[in-house]
Amino acid sequence: MKLFYISTFSLLVLTTVVMLAIGLQHNPTETPTIAVAERRIAGTAAPCAGNTTDTLRLVGHHFLLDSNYAPTDLVEVYTLSRIFSINISLAGMQLRQEARIGLESLLAALENEGFEKLLLVSGFRDYDTQAALYNSSRYDVVVADCGTELFNIAMPGASEHQLGLAIDLQTVDGNLRDFHLTQAGAWLHDNAHYYGWIVRNREIDEALTNIISEPWHFRYVGVPHAAVMQYLDVCLEQYLDLLRENIVTDIHIRGQSWQVQYFADGEEVFVPATHLYTTSSDVYGGTLVTIRR
Ligand SMILES: [Zn+2]
Repeated sequence: MKLFYISTFSLLVLTTVVMLAIGLQHNPTETPTIAVAERRIAGTAAPCAGNTTDTLRLVGHHFLLDSNYAPTDLVEVYTLSRIFSINISLAGMQLRQEARIGLESLLAALENEGFEKLLLVSGFRDYDTQAALYNSSRYDVVVADCGTELFNIAMPGASEHQLGLAIDLQTVDGNLRDFHLTQAGAWLHDNAHYYGWIVRNREIDEALTNIISEPWHFRYVGVPHAAVMQYLDVCLEQYLDLLRENIVTDIHIRGQSWQVQYFADGEEVFVPATHLYTTSSDVYGGTLVTIRR
C-alpha cells in the first residue's frame, strides 16, 4: 500500500538529485566508524548489526510499535559531555545514543548563539508510560475540519518517544504551546535540521500525522535527511515516500554527498564495502540504506 500523496510529490519533484546550497555545521550521522566488507543481509528480518540505526523509522497511529519494543542503545541524557545552560526536569531521561550526540551538538549551537536556558521535558518513554499519559488525557481526540482524527497525545505504540528519538523542549518559564514563537524556539525551528532534528508534528501535516501541532516536539532523523526534509518542506511520511519511489536518491550538501537506496521487502539488501552507511527499516517491510560518499 502506498500513501495517496506520493503522486503529487512525484510531479513536484522532477529530479532525483537534491542539491542543497546550505552548509552543515555539524554532521551527527558521521558516527558509524566500521566499514565492513561487502555483504548481503536478508532484508529487515536480519538487520545489519552495528550499522542499523533506524533513525528514519516511522511510527504513528497507523504504524504502532509493539508494547515490548524498546531501543537497545538508550543512554542517559545526563551523559552530555559539557554542562549546557539547560535544565533537565526528569532524572534518568534517556535517548538513543545517536540522538543524544545530535542533541549535544544542537544544544551546543544553541548555547553558542547565546540563548537562554531551556527545559528538556521528555525523552524516551516506554509503552506503559505512554499508555498512562494517554489514558490520563482529557482531550485525547479532536476531529479536525477535514474530518481527520487528531490526537493531542499519541496512542500507546504511536509515540516517537518510544523510539528514543524524540525530545520535548520548552522554556524554563513553561512555554510549551508557543515555543516556536520564543527566540530560542524560532531558532530551533529554523536550524535544528543542521544537527539531524526536525520539527515533527507541524500544523500543516496534521492530516498525515494525526497529531495536533507540537512546536516543542523534535524528532531525530539524522543528517542529511533532516536537511533535505527542511529544504523540500515535507514531513517524514512524505519524505519516506520520496525515498521509496527513488525520487530522492542522491544528496549533495556543500561538498558532502550521500546516496539513498531503497530495498523492497524480500529483496537482498546490499551494504557498501568501503563507505560508511546507515540503514533504517521501513513500515512496508523494506530497508532504506544511506551511504556516505
Ligand atoms: Zn514529544
